Amino acid sequence: MILDVKSYVRYRLAGFDFGWTKRYKVLRAVVTYVFKKFGIDESKIKSGYCPICGRKTKRFGLIRHLRRHEEEVNYIASEVRKIYELCRSVLKTYGSRDKIRYVCTLCNSNPKVKFKKVEDFVYHVITVHYEKS
Ligand SMILES: [Zn+2]
Ligand SMILES: [Zn+2]
Repeated sequence: MILDVKSYVRYRLAGFDFGWTKRYKVLRAVVTYVFKKFGIDESKIKSGYCPICGRKTKRFGLIRHLRRHEEEVNYIASEVRKIYELCRSVLKTYGSRDKIRYVCTLCNSNPKVKFKKVEDFVYHVITVHYEKS
């Protein structure tokens, strides 16, 4: 089971991340990339600052506080969703459980472009196939 993308973004903005999202490494990596792009500093969130307006808030209050930033949250989540879906549609993995390789099916190069880390795969899809399109 996974939270929908918007809820996941909201929880991450409030400093929460869940162990079970490890299954969704691609989503995780996309959120990290998009946060960086929007200048969202996750280390600040952990110390209780709203990543959007900078106000100090109790950690658990941040989820509620973020309702004030509904528009920004929606915008960030829609960007995440677009990239996440693109990444998922062009991703092919192979290898044993602990040695998975990520392959981009959009690249026609031979041999195929392979990535050891999901972060590198996501970065590749965004910079080569997303931002240029
Ligand atoms: Zn705020
Ligand atoms: Zn590619």
